[in-house]
Amino acid sequence: MSWDFETEPEFQKELDWIDQFVREEVEPLDYVLGHPYDVRDARRNKLVRPLQAEVKKRKLWACHLGPDLGGPGYGQVKLALMNEILGRSRFAPIVFGCQAPDSGNAEILAHYGTPEQKKRYLQPLLDNEIVSAFSMTEPQGGADPKVFTTKAELHGDNWVINGEKWFSSNAHLASFLIVMAVTDPEAKEYNRMSMFIVPKETPGVNILRNMGVGTHETEGSHAYIRYEDATVPKDHMLGPRGGAFVVAQTRLGGGRIHHAMRTIGQVRKAFDMMCERVLSRTTQGSRLADKQMVQEKIADSWMEIEQFRLLVLRTAWKIDRYKDYLKVRKDIAAVKALMPKVFHDIAARALHLHGSLGATGEMPFVEQVIQSFHMGLADGPTEVHKITVARQVLREYKATTGLFPSQHIPKLREAALRKYANMFDSQVRAQS
Ligand SMILES: Cc1cc2nc3c(=O)[nH]c(=O)nc-3n(C[C@H](O)[C@H](O)[C@H](O)COP(=O)(O)OP(=O)(O)OC[C@H]3O[C@@H](n4cnc5c(N)ncnc54)[C@H](O)[C@@H]3O)c2cc1C
Repeated sequence: MSWDFETEPEFQKELDWIDQFVREEVEPLDYVLGHPYDVRDARRNKLVRPLQAEVKKRKLWACHLGPDLGGPGYGQVKLALMNEILGRSRFAPIVFGCQAPDSGNAEILAHYGTPEQKKRYLQPLLDNEIVSAFSMTEPQGGADPKVFTTKAELHGDNWVINGEKWFSSNAHLASFLIVMAVTDPEAKEYNRMSMFIVPKETPGVNILRNMGVGTHETEGSHAYIRYEDATVPKDHMLGPRGGAFVVAQTRLGGGRIHHAMRTIGQVRKAFDMMCERVLSRTTQGSRLADKQMVQEKIADSWMEIEQFRLLVLRTAWKIDRYKDYLKVRKDIAAVKALMPKVFHDIAARALHLHGSLGATGEMPFVEQVIQSFHMGLADGPTEVHKITVARQVLREYKATTGLFPSQHIPKLREAALRKYANMFDSQVRAQS
Protein backbone atom coordinates (compact mmCIF):
# COMPACT_ATOMS: atom_id res chain seq x y z
CA MET A 1 0.00 0.00 0.00
CA SER A 2 1.99 2.99 -1.18
CA TRP A 3 -0.51 5.88 -1.20
CA ASP A 4 0.79 8.51 1.17
CA PHE A 5 -0.30 12.10 1.76
CA GLU A 6 2.22 12.99 4.44
CA THR A 7 5.39 15.05 4.30
CA GLU A 8 8.55 13.51 5.80
CA PRO A 9 9.15 15.13 9.20
CA GLU A 10 12.70 16.15 8.17
CA PHE A 11 11.46 18.01 5.10
CA GLN A 12 8.52 19.47 7.03
CA LYS A 13 11.12 21.22 9.20
CA GLU A 14 12.55 22.81 6.05
CA LEU A 15 9.06 23.84 4.93
CA ASP A 16 8.37 25.41 8.32
CA TRP A 17 11.63 27.33 8.06
CA ILE A 18 10.77 28.48 4.50
CA ASP A 19 7.31 29.57 5.60
CA GLN A 20 8.61 31.72 8.43
CA PHE A 21 11.53 33.10 6.38
CA VAL A 22 9.21 34.08 3.50
CA ARG A 23 6.68 35.70 5.83
CA GLU A 24 9.22 37.65 7.88
CA GLU A 25 12.10 38.38 5.52
CA VAL A 26 10.89 38.12 1.93
CA GLU A 27 7.26 39.27 1.73
CA PRO A 28 8.10 42.75 3.11
CA LEU A 29 10.31 43.31 0.02
CA ASP A 30 7.21 43.04 -2.16
CA TYR A 31 6.01 46.37 -0.76
CA VAL A 32 9.19 48.43 -1.01
CA LEU A 33 11.20 47.26 -4.03
CA GLY A 34 10.69 47.50 -7.79
CA HIS A 35 11.21 44.62 -10.22
CA PRO A 36 12.52 41.46 -8.48
CA TYR A 37 14.63 40.63 -11.55
CA ASP A 38 16.42 43.99 -11.78
CA VAL A 39 19.95 42.80 -10.99
CA ARG A 40 21.25 46.32 -11.67
CA ASP A 41 19.21 47.86 -8.85
CA ALA A 42 21.65 48.49 -5.97
CA ARG A 43 18.89 48.75 -3.34
CA ARG A 44 17.39 45.46 -4.51
CA ASN A 45 20.79 43.76 -4.41
CA LYS A 46 21.55 45.09 -0.95
CA LEU A 47 18.38 43.50 0.42
CA VAL A 48 18.09 40.40 -1.79
CA ARG A 49 21.69 39.13 -1.91
CA PRO A 50 22.02 38.39 1.86
CA LEU A 51 18.70 36.52 1.77
CA GLN A 52 19.88 34.48 -1.24
CA ALA A 53 23.07 33.66 0.69
CA GLU A 54 21.01 32.41 3.63
CA VAL A 55 18.94 30.20 1.30
CA LYS A 56 22.14 28.80 -0.27
CA LYS A 57 23.59 28.08 3.17
CA ARG A 58 20.41 26.20 4.03
CA LYS A 59 20.81 24.18 0.77
CA LEU A 60 17.46 25.36 -0.56
CA TRP A 61 18.84 27.31 -3.55
CA ALA A 62 17.65 26.35 -7.06
CA CYS A 63 15.66 23.35 -5.87
CA HIS A 64 14.41 22.67 -9.41
CA LEU A 65 17.94 21.54 -10.33
CA GLY A 66 19.95 18.44 -9.59
CA PRO A 67 23.31 18.45 -7.73
CA ASP A 68 25.27 18.55 -11.03
CA LEU A 69 23.88 22.08 -11.55
CA GLY A 70 24.13 23.33 -8.01
CA GLY A 71 20.67 22.40 -6.74
CA PRO A 72 19.80 19.74 -4.16
CA GLY A 73 17.73 17.71 -6.68
CA TYR A 74 14.82 17.28 -4.31
CA GLY A 75 12.46 16.37 -7.14
CA GLN A 76 9.14 17.86 -8.14
CA VAL A 77 7.02 16.83 -5.15
CA LYS A 78 9.25 18.60 -2.67
CA LEU A 79 9.58 21.50 -5.10
CA ALA A 80 5.77 21.70 -5.24
CA LEU A 81 5.55 21.88 -1.45
CA MET A 82 8.16 24.63 -1.46
CA ASN A 83 6.71 26.53 -4.40
CA GLU A 84 3.26 26.70 -2.83
CA ILE A 85 4.89 28.79 -0.10
CA LEU A 86 7.10 30.81 -2.48
CA GLY A 87 4.13 31.56 -4.74
CA ARG A 88 2.74 33.94 -2.12
CA SER A 89 5.46 36.51 -2.67
CA ARG A 90 6.76 38.37 -5.75
CA PHE A 91 10.32 38.19 -4.45
CA ALA A 92 10.40 34.66 -3.02
CA PRO A 93 11.21 32.77 -6.27
CA ILE A 94 14.20 35.05 -6.93
CA VAL A 95 15.41 34.72 -3.31
CA PHE A 96 15.27 30.92 -3.72
CA GLY A 97 16.79 30.90 -7.25
CA CYS A 98 13.86 29.20 -9.01
CA GLN A 99 12.14 32.07 -10.87
CA ALA A 100 10.58 31.77 -14.33
CA PRO A 101 11.63 32.09 -17.10
CA ASP A 102 15.24 31.68 -15.88
CA SER A 103 14.46 28.28 -14.38
CA GLY A 104 13.21 26.95 -17.73
CA ASN A 105 15.99 28.63 -19.68
CA ALA A 106 18.54 27.10 -17.31
CA GLU A 107 16.92 23.72 -17.85
CA ILE A 108 17.37 23.87 -21.64
CA LEU A 109 20.88 25.32 -21.39
CA ALA A 110 21.78 22.45 -19.06
CA HIS A 111 20.17 19.93 -21.37
CA TYR A 112 21.30 21.14 -24.79
CA GLY A 113 24.07 23.68 -24.15
CA THR A 114 27.66 23.13 -25.25
CA PRO A 115 30.35 23.40 -22.51
CA GLU A 116 31.14 26.92 -23.77
CA GLN A 117 27.45 28.00 -23.72
CA LYS A 118 27.06 26.61 -20.22
CA LYS A 119 30.11 28.46 -18.97
CA ARG A 120 29.12 31.77 -20.51
CA TYR A 121 25.36 31.77 -19.96
CA LEU A 122 24.25 29.01 -17.61
CA GLN A 123 26.54 29.53 -14.63
CA PRO A 124 25.88 33.28 -14.18
CA LEU A 125 22.17 32.59 -14.69
CA LEU A 126 22.17 29.94 -11.96
CA ASP A 127 23.98 32.38 -9.66
CA ASN A 128 21.40 35.13 -10.47
CA GLU A 129 24.21 37.42 -11.55
CA ILE A 130 22.17 37.85 -14.72
CA VAL A 131 18.59 37.19 -15.85
CA SER A 132 17.26 35.97 -19.20
CA ALA A 133 14.22 36.09 -21.49
CA PHE A 134 12.44 33.59 -23.72
CA SER A 135 11.52 35.08 -27.08
CA MET A 136 9.10 32.79 -28.86
CA THR A 137 5.66 34.39 -29.36
CA GLU A 138 5.17 36.59 -32.44
CA PRO A 139 2.73 39.48 -32.87
CA GLN A 140 0.67 37.65 -35.51
CA GLY A 141 0.00 34.71 -33.19
CA GLY A 142 1.42 32.91 -30.20
CA ALA A 143 -0.85 29.94 -29.74
CA ASP A 144 0.30 28.43 -33.04
CA PRO A 145 4.11 28.38 -33.43
CA LYS A 146 3.68 26.99 -36.92
CA VAL A 147 2.84 30.51 -38.13
CA PHE A 148 6.08 32.06 -36.83
CA THR A 149 8.10 33.91 -39.45
CA THR A 150 11.16 35.24 -37.60
CA LYS A 151 14.03 33.74 -39.55
CA ALA A 152 17.72 33.05 -39.06
CA GLU A 153 19.97 32.76 -42.09
CA LEU A 154 23.49 31.43 -42.14
CA HIS A 155 25.91 34.01 -43.54
CA GLY A 156 29.42 32.57 -43.35
CA ASP A 157 30.07 31.75 -39.71
CA ASN A 158 27.16 33.77 -38.38
CA TRP A 159 23.40 33.45 -38.04
CA VAL A 160 21.54 36.62 -39.00
CA ILE A 161 18.13 36.97 -37.34
CA ASN A 162 15.24 39.06 -38.68
CA GLY A 163 11.66 39.27 -37.47
CA GLU A 164 9.43 40.37 -34.63
CA LYS A 165 8.74 38.81 -31.25
CA TRP A 166 5.95 39.71 -28.88
CA PHE A 167 5.70 39.53 -25.07
CA SER A 168 9.28 38.48 -24.36
CA SER A 169 9.00 38.92 -20.59
CA ASN A 170 11.82 40.73 -18.78
CA ALA A 171 13.79 41.28 -22.01
CA HIS A 172 14.60 44.81 -20.82
CA LEU A 173 16.48 43.34 -17.84
CA ALA A 174 17.87 40.26 -19.55
CA SER A 175 21.50 39.67 -20.50
CA PHE A 176 20.49 37.21 -23.18
CA LEU A 177 17.36 35.98 -24.95
CA ILE A 178 16.56 32.52 -26.18
CA VAL A 179 15.01 33.09 -29.60
CA MET A 180 13.06 30.67 -31.77
CA ALA A 181 13.57 31.27 -35.50
CA VAL A 182 12.92 29.57 -38.83
CA THR A 183 16.16 28.13 -40.23
CA ASP A 184 14.79 25.49 -42.59
CA PRO A 185 11.60 26.78 -44.24
CA GLU A 186 11.37 23.76 -46.55
CA ALA A 187 11.55 21.18 -43.78
CA LYS A 188 8.55 19.48 -42.16
CA GLU A 189 6.39 21.76 -39.98
CA TYR A 190 7.98 20.71 -36.69
CA ASN A 191 11.57 20.75 -38.00
CA ARG A 192 11.59 24.23 -39.51
CA MET A 193 12.82 26.17 -36.49
CA SER A 194 15.93 26.30 -34.32
CA MET A 195 16.72 27.92 -31.00
CA PHE A 196 19.39 30.61 -30.54
CA ILE A 197 21.09 32.30 -27.64
CA VAL A 198 21.14 36.00 -28.45
CA PRO A 199 23.07 38.37 -26.13
CA LYS A 200 20.88 41.38 -25.42
CA GLU A 201 23.58 43.87 -26.42
CA THR A 202 23.72 42.40 -29.96
CA PRO A 203 23.15 45.23 -32.46
CA GLY A 204 19.74 44.78 -34.09
CA VAL A 205 17.94 43.54 -30.93
CA ASN A 206 15.53 46.46 -30.83
CA ILE A 207 12.88 46.69 -28.14
CA LEU A 208 10.05 48.65 -29.76
CA ARG A 209 8.15 48.94 -26.49
CA ASN A 210 7.48 47.21 -23.18
CA MET A 211 3.91 46.27 -22.38
CA GLY A 212 2.51 46.18 -18.86
CA VAL A 213 -0.10 43.62 -17.81
CA GLY A 214 -3.14 45.05 -16.02
CA THR A 215 -2.88 48.27 -14.06
CA HIS A 216 -0.45 47.10 -11.38
CA GLU A 217 2.59 46.98 -13.68
CA THR A 218 3.63 50.60 -13.72
CA GLU A 219 6.65 49.83 -15.87
CA GLY A 220 5.98 47.44 -18.71
CA SER A 221 8.12 44.32 -18.67
CA HIS A 222 6.88 42.34 -21.69
CA ALA A 223 8.86 43.38 -24.73
CA TYR A 224 7.79 43.81 -28.32
CA ILE A 225 11.10 43.21 -30.09
CA ARG A 226 12.21 43.69 -33.65
CA TYR A 227 15.27 41.66 -34.59
CA GLU A 228 16.93 43.55 -37.43
CA ASP A 229 19.98 41.75 -38.83
CA ALA A 230 20.81 40.65 -35.28
CA THR A 231 23.93 38.59 -35.84
CA VAL A 232 25.25 35.84 -33.58
CA PRO A 233 28.14 33.41 -34.13
CA LYS A 234 27.30 29.96 -35.47
CA ASP A 235 27.97 28.37 -32.09
CA HIS A 236 25.05 30.30 -30.55
CA MET A 237 22.50 27.80 -31.81
CA LEU A 238 21.03 25.98 -28.80
CA GLY A 239 20.29 22.33 -29.46
CA PRO A 240 20.12 20.71 -32.89
CA ARG A 241 19.28 22.56 -36.08
CA GLY A 242 15.52 22.23 -36.66
CA GLY A 243 15.08 21.15 -33.04
CA ALA A 244 13.36 24.24 -31.58
CA PHE A 245 10.07 22.44 -30.84
CA VAL A 246 11.80 19.70 -28.89
CA VAL A 247 13.95 22.21 -27.00
CA ALA A 248 10.87 24.35 -26.20
CA GLN A 249 8.97 21.33 -24.89
CA THR A 250 11.83 20.52 -22.53
CA ARG A 251 11.37 23.87 -20.83
CA LEU A 252 7.61 24.28 -21.10
CA GLY A 253 6.70 21.05 -19.27
CA GLY A 254 8.55 22.12 -16.14
CA GLY A 255 7.57 25.76 -16.58
CA ARG A 256 3.85 24.97 -16.59
CA ILE A 257 3.82 22.77 -13.52
CA HIS A 258 6.02 25.23 -11.61
CA HIS A 259 3.53 28.05 -12.37
CA ALA A 260 0.78 25.81 -11.01
CA MET A 261 2.72 25.12 -7.81
CA ARG A 262 3.18 28.85 -7.20
CA THR A 263 -0.47 29.50 -8.06
CA ILE A 264 -1.48 27.34 -5.09
CA GLY A 265 0.38 29.87 -2.93
CA GLN A 266 -1.55 32.74 -4.48
CA VAL A 267 -4.99 31.13 -4.18
CA ARG A 268 -4.36 30.18 -0.58
CA LYS A 269 -3.39 33.77 0.14
CA ALA A 270 -6.71 34.96 -1.34
CA PHE A 271 -8.59 32.22 0.53
CA ASP A 272 -6.98 33.07 3.90
CA MET A 273 -7.94 36.72 3.44
CA MET A 274 -11.46 35.71 2.42
CA CYS A 275 -11.89 33.61 5.59
CA GLU A 276 -10.54 36.36 7.84
CA ARG A 277 -12.86 38.90 6.26
CA VAL A 278 -16.07 36.90 6.55
CA LEU A 279 -15.37 36.22 10.21
CA SER A 280 -14.68 39.92 10.84
CA ARG A 281 -17.46 41.71 8.96
CA THR A 282 -21.02 42.00 10.24
CA THR A 283 -24.01 43.08 8.19
CA GLN A 284 -27.76 42.88 8.87
CA GLY A 285 -27.26 41.48 12.32
CA SER A 286 -24.85 38.62 11.65
CA ARG A 287 -21.33 37.93 10.47
CA LEU A 288 -20.80 37.31 6.76
CA ALA A 289 -19.51 33.89 7.83
CA ASP A 290 -22.97 33.00 9.17
CA LYS A 291 -24.77 33.57 5.87
CA GLN A 292 -25.32 30.49 3.78
CA MET A 293 -24.48 32.05 0.42
CA VAL A 294 -21.16 33.16 1.89
CA GLN A 295 -20.58 29.70 3.36
CA GLU A 296 -21.11 28.25 -0.10
CA LYS A 297 -18.30 30.49 -1.42
CA ILE A 298 -15.98 29.34 1.37
CA ALA A 299 -16.83 25.68 0.79
CA ASP A 300 -16.48 25.90 -3.01
CA SER A 301 -13.15 27.69 -2.69
CA TRP A 302 -11.72 25.20 -0.20
CA MET A 303 -12.82 22.22 -2.32
CA GLU A 304 -11.40 23.74 -5.50
CA ILE A 305 -8.03 24.42 -3.84
CA GLU A 306 -7.83 20.91 -2.42
CA GLN A 307 -8.72 19.27 -5.75
CA PHE A 308 -6.27 21.43 -7.68
CA ARG A 309 -3.48 20.89 -5.14
CA LEU A 310 -3.90 17.12 -5.23
CA LEU A 311 -3.73 17.13 -9.04
CA VAL A 312 -0.59 19.29 -8.98
CA LEU A 313 1.07 17.05 -6.39
CA ARG A 314 0.17 13.86 -8.21
CA THR A 315 1.51 15.32 -11.46
CA ALA A 316 4.73 16.30 -9.67
CA TRP A 317 4.94 12.76 -8.31
CA LYS A 318 4.50 11.34 -11.82
CA ILE A 319 7.30 13.59 -13.16
CA ASP A 320 9.60 12.29 -10.41
CA ARG A 321 8.55 8.75 -11.11
CA TYR A 322 8.77 8.68 -14.94
CA LYS A 323 11.46 11.36 -15.42
CA ASP A 324 9.95 12.06 -18.83
CA TYR A 325 7.65 15.03 -19.44
CA LEU A 326 6.10 13.33 -22.46
CA LYS A 327 4.72 10.55 -20.25
CA VAL A 328 3.05 13.18 -18.06
CA ARG A 329 1.80 15.38 -20.90
CA LYS A 330 -1.88 14.86 -20.19
CA ASP A 331 -1.49 15.62 -16.48
CA ILE A 332 0.58 18.76 -17.07
CA ALA A 333 -1.89 20.01 -19.68
CA ALA A 334 -4.77 19.35 -17.25
CA VAL A 335 -3.04 21.28 -14.47
CA LYS A 336 -2.29 24.13 -16.88
CA ALA A 337 -5.92 24.27 -18.07
CA LEU A 338 -7.36 24.13 -14.55
CA MET A 339 -5.00 26.69 -13.01
CA PRO A 340 -6.48 29.95 -14.43
CA LYS A 341 -10.03 28.96 -13.48
CA VAL A 342 -9.21 28.03 -9.88
CA PHE A 343 -7.10 31.18 -9.53
CA HIS A 344 -9.71 33.42 -11.14
CA ASP A 345 -12.71 32.06 -9.26
CA ILE A 346 -11.13 32.20 -5.82
CA ALA A 347 -9.53 35.62 -6.31
CA ALA A 348 -12.84 36.97 -7.65
CA ARG A 349 -14.77 35.58 -4.65
CA ALA A 350 -12.22 37.08 -2.27
CA LEU A 351 -12.55 40.43 -4.08
CA HIS A 352 -16.34 40.28 -3.93
CA LEU A 353 -16.51 39.34 -0.24
CA HIS A 354 -14.27 42.30 0.62
CA GLY A 355 -16.88 44.58 -0.95
CA SER A 356 -15.71 47.94 -2.31
CA LEU A 357 -12.36 47.57 -0.53
CA GLY A 358 -11.71 44.39 -2.50
CA ALA A 359 -12.01 46.26 -5.79
CA THR A 360 -9.29 48.76 -4.88
CA GLY A 361 -5.52 48.67 -5.28
CA GLU A 362 -5.30 48.52 -1.48
CA MET A 363 -5.99 44.79 -1.65
CA PRO A 364 -4.27 42.30 -4.03
CA PHE A 365 -7.39 40.79 -5.61
CA VAL A 366 -7.67 42.90 -8.78
CA GLU A 367 -4.03 42.07 -9.54
CA GLN A 368 -4.69 38.39 -8.82
CA VAL A 369 -7.68 38.31 -11.16
CA ILE A 370 -5.50 39.78 -13.92
CA GLN A 371 -2.76 37.29 -13.07
CA SER A 372 -5.26 34.48 -13.50
CA PHE A 373 -5.58 35.57 -17.15
CA HIS A 374 -1.78 35.66 -17.37
CA MET A 375 -1.79 32.01 -16.25
CA GLY A 376 -4.38 31.19 -18.88
CA LEU A 377 -2.22 32.65 -21.67
CA ALA A 378 1.50 32.36 -20.91
CA ASP A 379 2.89 28.99 -22.06
CA GLY A 380 -0.17 28.55 -24.26
CA PRO A 381 -3.89 29.34 -23.91
CA THR A 382 -6.22 27.09 -21.93
CA GLU A 383 -8.08 25.85 -25.01
CA VAL A 384 -4.90 24.39 -26.49
CA HIS A 385 -4.16 22.49 -23.27
CA LYS A 386 -7.71 21.18 -23.08
CA ILE A 387 -7.30 19.89 -26.63
CA THR A 388 -4.14 18.06 -25.47
CA VAL A 389 -5.98 16.55 -22.50
CA ALA A 390 -8.86 15.38 -24.70
CA ARG A 391 -6.57 13.91 -27.36
CA GLN A 392 -4.45 12.08 -24.80
CA VAL A 393 -7.52 10.77 -22.99
CA LEU A 394 -9.12 9.56 -26.23
CA ARG A 395 -5.97 7.60 -27.08
CA GLU A 396 -6.90 5.32 -24.20
CA TYR A 397 -10.22 4.42 -25.86
CA LYS A 398 -11.28 2.75 -29.09
CA ALA A 399 -14.42 2.92 -31.19
CA THR A 400 -16.99 0.17 -31.01
CA THR A 401 -17.38 -1.97 -34.10
CA GLY A 402 -21.12 -2.62 -33.81
CA LEU A 403 -24.05 -0.30 -34.37
CA PHE A 404 -24.81 0.00 -30.63
CA PRO A 405 -22.38 1.00 -27.83
CA SER A 406 -20.41 -1.76 -26.14
CA GLN A 407 -22.28 -0.98 -22.90
CA HIS A 408 -25.74 -1.16 -24.51
CA ILE A 409 -27.80 -2.81 -21.77
CA PRO A 410 -29.82 -5.31 -23.89
CA LYS A 411 -26.56 -6.64 -25.33
CA LEU A 412 -24.97 -6.90 -21.88
CA ARG A 413 -28.02 -8.62 -20.46
CA GLU A 414 -28.03 -11.10 -23.32
CA ALA A 415 -24.35 -11.88 -22.70
CA ALA A 416 -24.94 -12.23 -18.95
CA LEU A 417 -27.82 -14.63 -19.52
CA ARG A 418 -25.60 -16.72 -21.79
CA LYS A 419 -22.84 -16.75 -19.12
CA TYR A 420 -25.21 -17.93 -16.39
CA ALA A 421 -27.47 -20.03 -18.63
CA ASN A 422 -27.31 -23.02 -16.31
CA MET A 423 -28.42 -20.93 -13.29
CA PHE A 424 -31.44 -19.21 -14.79
CA ASP A 425 -34.52 -21.18 -15.69
CA SER A 426 -36.73 -20.39 -18.60
CA GLN A 427 -39.12 -18.44 -16.30
CA VAL A 428 -36.41 -15.86 -15.43
CA ARG A 429 -35.45 -15.65 -19.07
CA ALA A 430 -39.08 -14.93 -19.93
CA GLN A 431 -39.32 -12.16 -17.30
CA SER A 432 -36.20 -10.38 -18.46
C1 LIG B 1 1.94 37.86 -18.88
C2 LIG B 1 2.39 37.12 -20.10
C3 LIG B 1 3.74 36.78 -20.21
C4 LIG B 1 4.20 36.13 -21.37
N1 LIG B 1 5.55 35.85 -21.49
C5 LIG B 1 6.02 35.33 -22.64
C6 LIG B 1 7.43 35.14 -22.83
O1 LIG B 1 8.23 35.40 -21.94
N2 LIG B 1 7.86 34.69 -24.04
C7 LIG B 1 7.01 34.39 -25.05
O2 LIG B 1 7.48 33.96 -26.11
N3 LIG B 1 5.66 34.56 -24.92
C8 LIG B 1 5.15 35.04 -23.74
N4 LIG B 1 3.79 35.25 -23.60
C9 LIG B 1 2.92 35.03 -24.72
C10 LIG B 1 2.04 33.80 -24.60
O3 LIG B 1 2.79 32.62 -24.80
C11 LIG B 1 0.93 33.97 -25.64
O4 LIG B 1 0.11 35.03 -25.17
C12 LIG B 1 0.10 32.72 -25.85
O5 LIG B 1 0.84 31.70 -26.46
C13 LIG B 1 -1.12 33.03 -26.74
O6 LIG B 1 -0.72 33.66 -27.90
P1 LIG B 1 -1.43 35.04 -28.37
O7 LIG B 1 -1.34 35.99 -27.23
O8 LIG B 1 -0.83 35.44 -29.65
O9 LIG B 1 -2.92 34.66 -28.56
P2 LIG B 1 -3.61 34.04 -29.86
O10 LIG B 1 -2.73 32.98 -30.44
O11 LIG B 1 -4.06 35.13 -30.72
O12 LIG B 1 -4.86 33.35 -29.18
C14 LIG B 1 -5.93 34.19 -28.67
C15 LIG B 1 -7.01 33.34 -28.10
O13 LIG B 1 -7.56 32.51 -29.11
C16 LIG B 1 -8.05 31.32 -28.54
N5 LIG B 1 -7.37 30.17 -29.16
C17 LIG B 1 -6.11 30.11 -29.61
N6 LIG B 1 -5.85 28.88 -30.09
C18 LIG B 1 -6.99 28.16 -29.99
C19 LIG B 1 -7.38 26.83 -30.33
N7 LIG B 1 -6.52 25.98 -30.91
N8 LIG B 1 -8.64 26.44 -30.05
C20 LIG B 1 -9.52 27.29 -29.47
N9 LIG B 1 -9.21 28.56 -29.12
C21 LIG B 1 -7.96 28.99 -29.37
C22 LIG B 1 -7.72 31.40 -27.04
O14 LIG B 1 -8.82 31.91 -26.35
C23 LIG B 1 -6.57 32.36 -27.02
O15 LIG B 1 -6.40 32.99 -25.76
C24 LIG B 1 3.30 35.83 -22.43
C25 LIG B 1 1.94 36.15 -22.28
C26 LIG B 1 1.49 36.80 -21.15
C27 LIG B 1 0.04 37.16 -21.05
